[in-house]
Amino acid sequence: MTTTFTEPAMRPPQEAQSLLLRATQGCTYNDCHFCYVSRGYPFMAVTPDQLEEEARLRKVFFPEDTRIYLTGSNPFALPVERLRAWIEVLRRQVPHFSTVTMQSRIDDISGKSDAELRELRELGLNHLYIGTENGNEEVLILMNKGHSAADSVRQLLRLDAAGIDYTCFYVLGLGGQGWGRASGEATAAMFNRVHPIRITTTGMTVFPGSPLADMAASGVFTEATEREKIEELLVFLENLECDTFYDGVHYLNPLNYRLRIRDTAAKATVLADIRETLASHSDEELELMVSRERMQSL
Ligand code: SF4
Repeated sequence: MTTTFTEPAMRPPQEAQSLLLRATQGCTYNDCHFCYVSRGYPFMAVTPDQLEEEARLRKVFFPEDTRIYLTGSNPFALPVERLRAWIEVLRRQVPHFSTVTMQSRIDDISGKSDAELRELRELGLNHLYIGTENGNEEVLILMNKGHSAADSVRQLLRLDAAGIDYTCFYVLGLGGQGWGRASGEATAAMFNRVHPIRITTTGMTVFPGSPLADMAASGVFTEATEREKIEELLVFLENLECDTFYDGVHYLNPLNYRLRIRDTAAKATVLADIRETLASHSDEELELMVSRERMQSL
């Protein structure tokens, strides 16, 4: 059914146990400078019939109350009519699903009315993964993200009002050398104004073939050191106060932590560990914590 899709299906680590169903390939925006995932893949979406057939075949391997993750860089860009039809076939095939979730850009939310968001929530869409990436306006412009931090706050508050939970992505080191502290402070301030159930981080990596690789080659962009990325994480966690879960376990992060931000004892332990790591390791040792060159050739 999805033989025309050529992009490998990807999912967030948190959805490893979910029923994964192909929904889209490509990205409707496709213009973030750092992005390496969807380039070269034209945007395509499955029909409701195709989605139903895949759900019918695959549901037997999952519990009745499974989470369902619809794959693709931003399936939520599709008009509400398509999303409604998708969720309706999922409800038919997996009547007791616990969650339907997918990825969304910030401007995919702004393209929907409050009433449409509420309707999708009532149908069963109760969570989204959002590429907020950073709370610093200048860094977002530098990376051509296509939305501002102010846009993120506006649209995430609309999800709050509609009752749709969300996990936000944050890229440590997105701005490159010299932007760590400002990014950590601005991103914490942005998230303190909204209500993500989870914030997950990855460390910035320059992937071959991305516009960022050209920017790096021409000297327009200089990658932050691992020390600066860790310092950004420290500033971010020091300033983050909202009631959320931080999930920083990712192969592109120099340090990996999971904690509930309002667990003051856990937070104190993590902050102390980060400070100790910075104090006790040389720059060379910190650079070895992530083998970005090896990742770039995968
Ligand atoms: S919105 Fe996401 S998938 Fe699309 S270009 Fe930007 S980072 Fe890549």
